[in-house]
Amino acid sequence: MSSRSWFSKLLLPWYHENHRALPWRETKDPYRIWLSEVMLQQTRVDQGLGYYLRFTQRWPTVEKLAAAHENEVLKEWQGLGYYSRARNLLKAAQQVVVGHGGKFPDEHADLLKLKGVGEYTAAAIASICFHRPTAVVDGNVYRVLARVFGIAIPIDSTAGRKQFKELAMKLLDAKHPGDHNQAVMELGATVCTPKSPDCMRCPLQAKCAAFATGTISLLPVKQSKTKTRDRFFNYLHIPAGKDIYMQQRTSKDIWTGLYELPLIESGKPMTKRALETALGKAFGPDWCIVGQHEAARHVLSHQLIHAIFWSVVPPKNFTPPKEWERVPLMKLDKLAVPRLIERWIASALPSLSSQTQPPKL
Ligand code: SF4
Repeated sequence: MSSRSWFSKLLLPWYHENHRALPWRETKDPYRIWLSEVMLQQTRVDQGLGYYLRFTQRWPTVEKLAAAHENEVLKEWQGLGYYSRARNLLKAAQQVVVGHGGKFPDEHADLLKLKGVGEYTAAAIASICFHRPTAVVDGNVYRVLARVFGIAIPIDSTAGRKQFKELAMKLLDAKHPGDHNQAVMELGATVCTPKSPDCMRCPLQAKCAAFATGTISLLPVKQSKTKTRDRFFNYLHIPAGKDIYMQQRTSKDIWTGLYELPLIESGKPMTKRALETALGKAFGPDWCIVGQHEAARHVLSHQLIHAIFWSVVPPKNFTPPKEWERVPLMKLDKLAVPRLIERWIASALPSLSSQTQPPKL
């Protein structure tokens, strides 16, 4: 019996009996499968589910999504992180509508040409929606295969990626590629979890090398620990009556397209005096720092943001830079903002709304 047949034979019945009922499992519509796959990258199912339901309610078809404004999509995406996914989502929807008449391409190679669609997403759509024999390999798949077959080659090495992809292709049940792919991912997500896998419930236990040799906690192997970079953000809250100054992030960095307060980034934590100097250098002298809110930490995958929100009063006759937009407090909730800013707004808005002093600028 080939490895392919035992693997799929054990896995598919388990999947049919045990998989979680999720809305994207009830459809083969490539638009919905694509949305769910993009949303669930780097996101837990319980967190992604609400976003999926809101997106599909607001934009039930790819045509509707393609016609949306980027800020609307970012706003709906707010809190899910990795915002390039949202911007790419919109561009890919436009590609499907303009380049393919609103129909998703059904070949893996053509799916790969859509903005933001990588190997994994293309394989998922091609197999689930169009029955193409393409194996998906994501973190769950790496973990299951590394453990079942006792593979210690690092999953983040070129050789490792190649070996796992070849093995996944070899194991794939060509008759049921969509179910097979979803079954491996479901096993990784619900049974063969990173910590404390539930081996007693696992349909592959009798064949699992890691279970037999007591090496579960050692697999899969990763070669590199990603280094986290510390960044220091000094946000400027400038009292302006019933308005507030915001700016849109435009550079190729985190949170592109999202709004935040005017920002001074520094290489280390800033003192009040250092901020005064920085403000003077950036915008001219005579700034007055009138308050400092509690520091906030925001964890991203490779960055740790240390943020301080400063209340500052600019000098008389100060002309704000053209990137600063004066936004009525009442309309703040229309802007797509990072979680960090969303939290600050939630905590500061009551006192901001009662700020009565006339605009200084
Ligand atoms: Fe994972 Fe345990 Fe199943 Fe092996 S037996 S695949 S370690 S859950």
